[in-house]
Amino acid sequence: MNYAYQINEIKSLVEHYTLKSSFSPNDLSANTNTEFKKAAYHLFYELIKLKSLRIYQEPNHITELFGLIKQSSFQDRIEKKALAHVEYWWLEWYFALEMDEKINTEKNNTAMSYLSQSTQHPMRKHELSHYAKLFAALPMPVCNVCARTGDILRVNQRFVDVFGYTVKDVPNLNIWWQKAYPDIKYREFAKTLWDNSLQLALKNNNDIPANNYRVSCKNGSQVMMEVSGIDIGEEFLAVFKDATERLQAEDILRDMAFLDALTKIANRRRFDEKLTHEFERAKAYEGSLSLIILDIDHFKEFNDLYGHVAGDTCLYDVAQKIASTVSRPEDFVARYGGEEFIVLLPQTDKQGALFIAEQIQKAIENLAIAHEGSFTGFLSVSMGINTIDKCTASDELNFIKAADSALYYAKRQGRNCIALSAN
Ligand code: GH3
Ligand code: MG
Ligand code: MG
Repeated sequence: MNYAYQINEIKSLVEHYTLKSSFSPNDLSANTNTEFKKAAYHLFYELIKLKSLRIYQEPNHITELFGLIKQSSFQDRIEKKALAHVEYWWLEWYFALEMDEKINTEKNNTAMSYLSQSTQHPMRKHELSHYAKLFAALPMPVCNVCARTGDILRVNQRFVDVFGYTVKDVPNLNIWWQKAYPDIKYREFAKTLWDNSLQLALKNNNDIPANNYRVSCKNGSQVMMEVSGIDIGEEFLAVFKDATERLQAEDILRDMAFLDALTKIANRRRFDEKLTHEFERAKAYEGSLSLIILDIDHFKEFNDLYGHVAGDTCLYDVAQKIASTVSRPEDFVARYGGEEFIVLLPQTDKQGALFIAEQIQKAIENLAIAHEGSFTGFLSVSMGINTIDKCTASDELNFIKAADSALYYAKRQGRNCIALSAN
């Protein structure tokens, strides 16, 4: 393309302003709209915008044009500096122009209605190009949606990197819901959650509150995302934050809150929760539920004979042994208190529970922990078992009490013994 006319005009502009007695190099660094900048914009408007010298051409016209000017002119340092600024401004304005054109093309020349009228002001466009850059550079996935039509106007690079979808893959929210939430049931859940958040935001005139969503990526993998929304008039920005690490940390903290520090099995708090849950389930489905309470025999003496540290190690070994002996995933083992443990066995009748108790007894026998204070010479345990089935009307407290009474009975029988509750 022949740029002779444009080259002359730009050179004249730079010469005219840099030769003016009132011109100061500070005019270039000042972040204000100086006469020079305004004149540069007018020239841009006249030569580029009105002449439609633009859009989708590589290399970009402005770079090409200024490349030619730099080759042919200006030895003076101030003039060179001024020219560099004009180039920078023109690139910005050109970018804004390109963006407008692109949106207009994509949206059949209606896109500018998404932007308020004030965005059409020349200087506002310059500002917009900064937002566009910021949007592109944001470190988290962001997606810009037209609230009226549900069209996805643009996504940033991070969005594409994380999810693999471009605007072509997900041109509107309907397709996004289908692709990012392929499981119909989960999609319904996610949509309801999002719609409720949206209603809440509208009601309170606020941003869309954050919630966790499991998003399916283009390659089939899934990521947990905390998604919130920022309302910007007729559009909103959906902002995604990776929640995987935070949720994992929460799981760990939750596990820690429910874990007995010494024996590394569940603690009493976790047992209480689990018991309520299993108790309700057993009642609802009229199934049986068994409970074994287990207490180490003569443990005070064990501590006295071998010391507290050996006592702690012994508690850990016994706990781990019980946990590894009870193998069904729905079975549950916890430390109930000092040297007492509890085993909860859903869908297990009395006979089944007795069988498990005998297995535990054998496993502890096999540990063969020496105990001079015990009449066998080895550490032993006593156990009490209680079971509820569909005919048993009981509450949680009585359920435990009955197992405890059975344990007490086993102790009275001379220890190293298993007893069943009377009911
Ligand atoms: P029994 O056969 O009747 O159960 O006698 P016992 O000595 O085991 O019963 P008792 O309840 O009198 O004593 C329990 C002992 O368990 C007392 C306490 O020193 C010990 N103990 C409780 N918690 C811990 C612990 O965390 N570490 C250690 N080392 N000992 C503990
Ligand atoms: Mg005890
Ligand atoms: Mg004991």
